[in-house]
Amino acid sequence: MTSLKHHQTITEESLINDPDVSCSDCEACCCRLEVLLLSDTGVPERFIEIDKWGGMTMQRLDDGWCVALDRDTMMCTIYDKRPLVCREYKMGDPDCIIEREANL
Ligand code: SF4
Ligand code: SF4
Repeated sequence: MTSLKHHQTITEESLINDPDVSCSDCEACCCRLEVLLLSDTGVPERFIEIDKWGGMTMQRLDDGWCVALDRDTMMCTIYDKRPLVCREYKMGDPDCIIEREANL
């Protein structure tokens, strides 16, 4: 397995299945989605927002991206503490493809 970019673990199988989809040529499209914090992974409190239902989410800035994204490198600055949702989001899955088509 190979770790790439800000939150993806890429298997050889996924690279073979769709070589055109890669975090390395993406603009962190999925880091513009709402990210619910479903468990405590150590996300710094200053990055957490409470939504109107009392749920915790990652803050997003006016440009639409998650506050934890480094705008220069487009990499996650809290990779080791990133939310569960980010850990489970898989490069090449339908959700990823939809976000790339909408934003790239
Ligand atoms: S949208 Fe897909 S390709 Fe782009 S950064 Fe997210 S997982 Fe990687
Ligand atoms: S926590 Fe990291 S991986 Fe998750 S949306 Fe924010 S920048 Fe992206």
